[in-house]
Amino acid sequence: MARASRRGLLKMGIAAAGAAAAAGGTHAARPEGGQLNTAQTPSRSAAVVTGRRFKGWVSRGTGPARTTLEELTLRPIAGRQVLVRTEATNLCYSNTGAVLGLGPGGGGFGRLGEMALIQGHGGVGVVEAVGPEVRRVQAGDRVCVSGTPQCGACYQCLRGRSDMCQFLGRQGPNDLVAMADLRDGTPVYANSHIGGLAELMVTFEEWVVPVFTKAAAADLGMVCSCVAVAGLGATTSQGTGILRPGSTVAVVGCGPLGLSAVQGARISGASSIIAIDPIKARRDIALKVGATEVLDPNVEGDGLVAKVRDLTKGPNDRLWFGGRDAGGLLGGAGADFVVEAVGADTAPPKAERGPDPTGILPLRQAYEMCAAGGDIVTTSLPRGNITLPAVMFTIGGRTHHAGQAGGCSPMRDIPRFVAMLDSGQYQARALATTVVPIERMREAYEEVVYRTTATAIMTA
Ligand SMILES: [Zn+2]
Ligand SMILES: [Zn+2]
Repeated sequence: MARASRRGLLKMGIAAAGAAAAAGGTHAARPEGGQLNTAQTPSRSAAVVTGRRFKGWVSRGTGPARTTLEELTLRPIAGRQVLVRTEATNLCYSNTGAVLGLGPGGGGFGRLGEMALIQGHGGVGVVEAVGPEVRRVQAGDRVCVSGTPQCGACYQCLRGRSDMCQFLGRQGPNDLVAMADLRDGTPVYANSHIGGLAELMVTFEEWVVPVFTKAAAADLGMVCSCVAVAGLGATTSQGTGILRPGSTVAVVGCGPLGLSAVQGARISGASSIIAIDPIKARRDIALKVGATEVLDPNVEGDGLVAKVRDLTKGPNDRLWFGGRDAGGLLGGAGADFVVEAVGADTAPPKAERGPDPTGILPLRQAYEMCAAGGDIVTTSLPRGNITLPAVMFTIGGRTHHAGQAGGCSPMRDIPRFVAMLDSGQYQARALATTVVPIERMREAYEEVVYRTTATAIMTA
């Protein structure tokens, strides 16, 4: 689709605002500061106010029928809001319960479960209009609507932990803002201020990252997804754990997050990358995108940690000569850098099942396979509590990094990840094994939840 000129959009905005006002419609913002509306200055154009119709998947209630494709009417945008025409959205596994009505609570929880919400943890698209207070992006910009916001001003952003930006916690029922209406007048909200499962997203400035690329929509949607950002963040951002060139790396769990971590480890110059997953198709992709060794946890069983230590002990065990000995509390063997990316099952997979549906066992194994002095980055959503060998935990020298988005800084790092896509370093297509138009979102999400595909992208 041709990119609309900003002047054209502004005219459309004025025309639409006029039409809305003539129709006795909503409070149309008046265009202001047209003379500032140049490429060198932040956009101050009025929001496009339309009453525009668009399609979106709306979830409410409980059970498998909670998500339906609806025709919606857009509300006016204002303030720091940004209207984005969706190009692509990754179908994130952690969103499957809410979309398909699976798991405890049948997908709906409390007041949020009763509200009409558009799910979807992120997406990419083109900015169609911005509220008058928006400075970060302009109409016509291609953007990633990030799973993790970055305001740049809160306590966490200022202390260098933008992955923990406190706006991430402002997603409760009282924080969400209605962005559209159903035909019967029911207000519709964008979950997480994102709502990627629709033709239009209405988000806030803190959630958008401008990306300047001509990449195909599905590829861009893949690399900008919450999971790819977390995998690449963990292994290339050097914000938390440092993955040094020549390191030995283990990636536990090869969904789209782990497979992105495998690629990030390759890009960062790891000497060996051990990828661990029960699903053969995923181990095969891991080998294609950079793993040097793959292990099946069902085959290795209780010997998995020992196997990784054996594979990482190196050629030299002479302690006077930089050698690594066999293991134990202070031993040198084990992966220098571990990424854990398993988490709990929302539903039993139809592909090969892992050894523990809660995700706790692989989390513990990931910790134990890390070398003394090494780093472990955890990224998953497991269920329950973890028990670790206490002495290894207290004085074993392993440094644990926990955070959102693999510890990355969205505004700093997502453009870098897009550059990795454009340069061919990041292979998006190997991961996006299902790509569907918006109408087929539900069946693609079933492939995701039953793990019969690596991941899926919805294009709009
Ligand atoms: Zn997600
Ligand atoms: Zn912040």
